[in-house]
Amino acid sequence: MDFWFGFWIGTLIHSAVCCGLAAKLAKVKGHDEVEWACIGFFFGLFGLLAAVGLPGHHNEPNASTEPCPACGGMLAKGYMKCRHCGESLTWHEGAPFWGTESEVRKQLFELAEAKRALLQEESDERQRRRPPPPPAPR
Ligand SMILES: [Zn+2]
Repeated sequence: MDFWFGFWIGTLIHSAVCCGLAAKLAKVKGHDEVEWACIGFFFGLFGLLAAVGLPGHHNEPNASTEPCPACGGMLAKGYMKCRHCGESLTWHEGAPFWGTESEVRKQLFELAEAKRALLQEESDERQRRRPPPPPAPR
């Protein structure tokens, strides 16, 4: 791949990710989502860090809690482990796979299974194409 093409695509993805995260953070903290999306987009990681450092605008109890994806119990944000069911929530946000740890494990397992099946199919195909072995010398 052309270096500059990769560079700009990478920059664009980086900006888009920072844009989305900054907007999300701003929303959670009660700030203007669009404004922070722009800041995240243009300033990238720095904009995102600024959004992280934003003070909360409001003190609604619901803004700092979210339901556990496994059992639905309400939890304060930032919990690493569910107080209700013990599910590990470290995977919940920012992970390439969405969901609780057990869900992610399941997704990874399914991926591995699919890959294994594909490899199996390929080796079967090779087996079929291989010419029959020459007769053993007497
Ligand atoms: Zn739970």
